[in-house]
Order: sequence, then structure tokens, then C-alpha cells
Amino acid sequence: MTTHQHSRHLHAHDAHGDGDHESIHDHGHRHHGGHNGHGHEDMLEVEQAFQRIIGHFDPLDTVELPVLECLGLTLAEDINSPLDLPPLANSAMDGYAVLHTDIAHANGAPPTLSVISAVAAGQVSDQTVTAGNAIRIMTGAPVPAGADTVVPFEETDEMDRRRNGQPLNEIEIRKALPLGSNVRPAGEDVHSGELVLPTGTVVRPAEAGVMASLGLSKARVIRRPVVAVLSTGDELTTAGDPLTPGHIYDSNSSSVAAAVIAAGGVPRIIGIARDNLDDLHRCIDTAADADLLVTSAGVSKGDYDMVKDVLEQRGDMNFWSVRMRPAKPLAFGLLHRNGRSPLPLLGLPGNPVSALLAFEMFGRPAVRRMLGRDLLARPMVEGVLTGPIYNSDGRRVYARVEVERRDGAWFATPTGPQGSNILTSLSRANGLAICPSDLTRKEAGQAVKIIMLDWNEEVEL
Ligand code: AMP
Ligand code: MG
Repeated sequence: MTTHQHSRHLHAHDAHGDGDHESIHDHGHRHHGGHNGHGHEDMLEVEQAFQRIIGHFDPLDTVELPVLECLGLTLAEDINSPLDLPPLANSAMDGYAVLHTDIAHANGAPPTLSVISAVAAGQVSDQTVTAGNAIRIMTGAPVPAGADTVVPFEETDEMDRRRNGQPLNEIEIRKALPLGSNVRPAGEDVHSGELVLPTGTVVRPAEAGVMASLGLSKARVIRRPVVAVLSTGDELTTAGDPLTPGHIYDSNSSSVAAAVIAAGGVPRIIGIARDNLDDLHRCIDTAADADLLVTSAGVSKGDYDMVKDVLEQRGDMNFWSVRMRPAKPLAFGLLHRNGRSPLPLLGLPGNPVSALLAFEMFGRPAVRRMLGRDLLARPMVEGVLTGPIYNSDGRRVYARVEVERRDGAWFATPTGPQGSNILTSLSRANGLAICPSDLTRKEAGQAVKIIMLDWNEEVEL
């Protein structure tokens, strides 16, 4: 059983939309340079934006890595076993390796066998067990030639002999066990040549162990995507630097980079681009060798910033409004690169919650697709709201909630102010409860769909 096998199907974010009843019209248009600045913007459903973005990502190229570094990555080769596992028939118990014919009647007439030698794990006995004889054997030791059954110590008179100071050169067998008892046959787990881990398997601790058990120290996997992270705005200051009036600290670089790591990517924080053409161009240039560039801010309608102009100069950009709250404004496009395939750019909104939520919805799936994952979306549960969620303007609301399980059901409690700048209420949440766009509110006590961001391990409930 592999994670891959669980997840052959793409669970796109359309699952999240269940409960929205307005029709979805996706005519498949791509809006190259679609920013027209005249107030007309397309309002896209979350699923439409998702589909227009995810189609631009494919699994990346492959690398050979030490097994431990493969954790969380997708195998890019079939792993066939070079050996039988276990390599030799071995004992499942500490006991005596015997011939089954010698012990077949032990229940009525316990036989006494001569103990001709002992074999421990790591040794191979050079002796053969013949009629009337036994070899003392430890768990994991290869079963000696001739023997076909192992009788555990508990089913012999070994303890009595020890107590009475009698030698262990012979042993009484007190129980007739079935033929083959406590013998693990060679190849019981894996046969030589067998396909053990197919291409596409996600490496978890068990797979790391399976590979090591086959003697493999390296594997070929799909490499991690490098995601350049760029914040934009004249008002931003890097954490650690002194804050001057009118400025705020840049939280998006840290939150988005952390989300990149959590998704399995490698972030490259470019820093802060100021709202002027030269600085934006300079910063974007440094992302030239990334697999994805994620910017934040400067993409909303009527924005003072230069970001839109610069991006449009450098490629085919789309500036969308997505029918979701938070995170309505969104940009996606392909920037030209010299001598290379274009660089995908995901432009997140500036507000800290919006930025992280837009990355969650559109950036994380892209990272996972590049990692070769089939399962792109988070798990969802259906729960009961303990407080209301409001919907003021016909967008799908993703409300920050604390999710806990009580009496066999999931309960979702809104974590406080839901403004797109209130990052602490996202910090207190482990799920996003959905209010469909066609409802004005969800009341306490109503059923609600919840995207699980994590499963409570890190959230105090
Ligand atoms: P903008 O899209 O540039 O209008 O930004 C929207 C809001 O997000 C403004 O209040 C910005 O100050 C804020 N913002 C933009 N970038 C960041 C950032 N990197 N960290 C924290 N807040 C930001
Ligand atoms: Mg700005």
C-alpha cells in the first residue's frame, strides 16, 4: 500500500465548491494581458482560476538522492527487489530447530532430543538437523539445514533444566506444533525481482525502510521545486530592522516561504521590491532560474503600485478577481526568460491572510503537481458550526476556524475577526470553513464543509 495508490485521482479544488449553486461558465478563454484598467474585470470561480493555473505545471525533472532525502518526494523509478526478503528462512522465536516428524506426537509422548549446537542471529549453522537432534536457535537466525519447525523455549523443559542445574545438551519437547511453525520462509515478504515500489510512490518513513531493507541507499525521485518569493511595497520593512513611522513589517515573505516548505518546495526569499520600475525589474531578474515566482501585493484593482505594469511588460499576465473571501485579486501568468521555458508567476494579494490563503488555494497545488503528487487538495471534513459566518457580497467565504472532534463529530469555531489583515486569527485556526457564495450567512448549528489545514497536532484546542 502506497500513498500513491491511495491518490491516483486528482482531487482538485472543485470539491470545495460543493454547495455553491450558481452556474459556472468557463469558456476556457485565456486573458493574455487581460488587465485593461477600465474597471471591467472577469470574476472567476475558484475552480476556474485553479484550472487556468494548474494546467501550466508538470512534474519536474528527477534526481538521485540518499534515501533519507527522498522523504516526501515522489519516486521516479520502479524499485524492483534485488533479493529475497528475508534472504534465508529464519526463526520467528527463540527456541529449538527440529524435524517436525520428531515432535509430531509430543503431546502424548514428549520426545527428548539431543542439542547438537546453537545458532544466533547473524550466524549460519554449518550443521544439519537429523532425526533425534535439535539446534538451539535465536530469533532471526537462519534455520539450519534439515530443520523444518522451531519449538519456542516455553514449549520445552528448558526452564526446568536451568532451575535444576541440568545441562542443556538435551531438551524435552512438550508440544506438538504444526509443520513449519515459527519458520519465516525465504522471500516471505519480497521475492527477488518483484516490483516493490512503483514509480509515483511517495516516500514516507515506511518506504525509506523498505528501500533500506532491499539494500538501497539512494533512489531516483522528482526534485523539489524552487519557489522564488517576492514581497512588493514601499511600506514594507524586513523583520529584525527598526520600524519607522508609516511602515509595517513584511510578513508575506515569511509566511509564503514557510508555506512553500510545508508544501515540499524550496523557497528562495528575494526580499522586498519597492514600488518603482527599476527595483521591480531588478528583483524579478533574480528569480530567473526558479520554477515558480510568487509575488505579493500590487495586483488589486485601481492599485497605485507598479507591479501590474512591470509584469505585463515581461510576459503574458492575467489579472483576475476570484469569487472568494479573502483573496479576491489574483494574478497569474508566464514571464519570458531568455533561452528557457517561461517562468510561471503567481501574484498573491498583499493582505497577509489573503496572501497565504491564495497560496494555499493556488500555489500549494502547483508545488505538489511539480513534485509529482496526484493528490493536490487538502482533506475536507463536514462539521457543525458553533458560531456564524457572514457573507456580505456573494463570494465564497473561507472562514478561519478551530476544528475539534467531540462526541464523534467535527465542530468548527470561528477564531475571531475575519479581516484579511488579521493574521493572528489564521494562526489560531486549523481549518477553513466554507460559506457558499449564494448564502448570506451560515448559522451556528448548521453543517459546514471544512478544509483541514492540519489535524490539531499544533493547535491548542
Ligand atoms: P496592496 O495590494 O499593495 O494594496 O497591499 C494590500 C495590503 O497588504 C496593504 O495594507 C499592504 O500594506 C499589505 N501588505 C502588502 N504586502 C505585505 C507584506 N509583504 N506583509 C504584510 N503586509 C503586506
Ligand atoms: Mg502595495
